[in-house]
Amino acid sequence: MTCKDYKDLLMGYLDGELSQEQKQDLEKHLQTCSDCRQELEGFRKLIAITDEVTLREPEDKLWDQYWGGIYNRLERSLGWMLFGIAAIALLLYGGFEAVKTLVNDPTIGFMLKIGICALIGGLAILFVSVLRERLFFWSHDRYKDVRR
Ligand SMILES: [Zn+2]
Repeated sequence: MTCKDYKDLLMGYLDGELSQEQKQDLEKHLQTCSDCRQELEGFRKLIAITDEVTLREPEDKLWDQYWGGIYNRLERSLGWMLFGIAAIALLLYGGFEAVKTLVNDPTIGFMLKIGICALIGGLAILFVSVLRERLFFWSHDRYKDVRR
């Protein structure tokens, strides 16, 4: 067998695909031939690099998850914003209607009118407060992501 024949066996040797006879024959040749040994080292390095690239794949998946996370956060923030705006709009409309009915209804006592008005006003303020809090955390999160 010539060196070229042995070099053709190197890849199979590293993959463990050679027969016992081929393996022993090649190993005997490698002990005496530095040229084929160098070739083998070259293949080993190539395999090491290939393995490294293969090991990087999970990191790519992590990046996907990371960007997916940002998207999810934006989606949730948008959801909160729409929910807040809708809640305030409905509350203002409902509150306005309720107050109008309340004030025009002579059977409801004055103190009860004030109580219900205060309740509606309080709820509206709470909603605005929660929405502002959400918006604050949203912009806070967003700037943190940009810095990264
Ligand atoms: Zn050789």
